[in-house]
Amino acid sequence: MEVIGIANQKGGVGKTTTCMNLAASLAVIGKKILVIDIDPQGNASTGIGIDNSHRNHDIYGVLTDKYHINDAIYQTSINNLEIITSTVDLAAAELGLVSLNNREFILKSHLSKLNNSYDYIIIDCPPSLGLLTINAMAAINELIIPVQCEFFALEGLSHLLKTIKLIRKTINPHIKIKGVLLTMYDRRNKISEQVAREIKKFLGPKLFHTKIPRNVKISEAPSFGKPVIAYDHNCSGARAYIGLVKEILQQEKLKQKVI
Ligand code: ADP
Ligand code: MG
Repeated sequence: MEVIGIANQKGGVGKTTTCMNLAASLAVIGKKILVIDIDPQGNASTGIGIDNSHRNHDIYGVLTDKYHINDAIYQTSINNLEIITSTVDLAAAELGLVSLNNREFILKSHLSKLNNSYDYIIIDCPPSLGLLTINAMAAINELIIPVQCEFFALEGLSHLLKTIKLIRKTINPHIKIKGVLLTMYDRRNKISEQVAREIKKFLGPKLFHTKIPRNVKISEAPSFGKPVIAYDHNCSGARAYIGLVKEILQQEKLKQKVI
């Protein structure tokens, strides 16, 4: 089972969008997926179609031992796609967890109690490097880093890579970077091109070939509670996320050959 985190300490770079759409695109081809929303803003929960008023079991209740993790799993309108939601209560959990022993490993310990097995668990992180993100970092094998093609992107990225080195030394030596994903890419915009080129130089093979274009359907879909593949499967955004899935599956096939 792969546990993938979607993280970047910067907000608005496409983490939640990537989490929902990667998860849905993998589910559509028959992979069994669990999304875990650990951002108190709950955008992934809303975007995947679980209305705030229906979230009476959420990740906050799991982390604070109110109920078993299996009881917090919701089926979505997409086959094979399940989710553990979050609500604003989670902001309080971040404070509540601080005083606990092993506070970095609480999410990881609950994941080990899951009854169902999944091909992928995909965790949507908040835009910070606080305790919730650290809990995700302790629980994952692999990390996907969405980066928006803008002027300060490289600075933010080097900061994040330093943090990951530190995390490897302390709470999770096994964490691998699955890839950096360029989001909201606009071919006609010089900055987009320039940033893409610099990041490629800086990261080499760790940069996904797939780029996610800026596409209005991607930003409309969450207001209908749908991943873009269910909203308009033929738009450039949906096709790009399917391209990402193909690239990831290809990457995993090559890895198996090496092993
Ligand atoms: P984060 O989770 O990193 O804060 P989001 O995924 O919520 O970022 O994206 C921020 C905003 O940008 C949202 O309104 C989202 O709909 C929009 N957005 C993300 N990716 C795209 C894209 N490829 N094209 C157009 N809008 C996008
Ligand atoms: Mg988000």
